[in-house]
Amino acid sequence: MSVRKVVRYGEESLRQPSKEVHKVSQKIKVLVDDLLDTMYAQNGVGLAAPQVGENYRVFVIDVSTGEQPLNPMVFINPKIIKKSGACISHEGCLSFPEAFTDVRRYANVMVKAMDRNGRAFILEAKDGSLLARAIQHEFDHLDGILFIDHSINRFEADEVLKKYNLPPVQVEKLLDEPELAKQIDELKAKQIEDEKT
Ligand code: ZN
Repeated sequence: MSVRKVVRYGEESLRQPSKEVHKVSQKIKVLVDDLLDTMYAQNGVGLAAPQVGENYRVFVIDVSTGEQPLNPMVFINPKIIKKSGACISHEGCLSFPEAFTDVRRYANVMVKAMDRNGRAFILEAKDGSLLARAIQHEFDHLDGILFIDHSINRFEADEVLKKYNLPPVQVEKLLDEPELAKQIDELKAKQIEDEKT
C-alpha cells in the first residue's frame, strides 16, 4: 500500500476514458488500496484511478466525517442505473488543489458496481447528499469528464482556476445540460423567494 502522486488538471491522462476491469486481480486490489491511502493522505472524499495515472474503471469514496469511523467504499466497473432530481454542488477535486466551484448534479442516483472482492452491489444515494454528488464526480473521471465541465457559471469557474494557477475551463468540454439547468434555475429562484420571506 502506498500514497501515489495525484495527476493535476492540465495533464492529458485526466481526459482519457478508462477501461473496464476484467478481473479483480491482485494488481487491481493494490490499485484500490493505493487509491484509499492516497485519498486519506490528501483528506479527500473520493479518488478515481485515472487521477493516479491508471486508466481503469475504479474509484473509491469515503464520506465519513469527524469522529465517525472510516467508511471506505470501493466501486469497480460502476454503472449509474438511475438518476433523478437536480442540485447545486459546491465541489473541488484532488486534481485541482484548493479550487472549488458550483456545478450541476442529479440529486438522486442508483449505482451498480463491484466491491474489492469482485462482489456486485447496488447502492442508492439521495437528496443531493455528499455521497450522491461524490458518486457522480468520481464516475465522471472514468470517462475523462471533470467537475468544471458541469459549471453553473464558467466565468466564475475560470476566476477560481486562475486564482490557483490552474489552466482555464476547456469551453469545448462544457456539458450542455438543459434539463438540469432548468431545475437548478427553479431551485435558485425558490431560494431567493425563501430569503425574502
Ligand atoms: Zn475529482
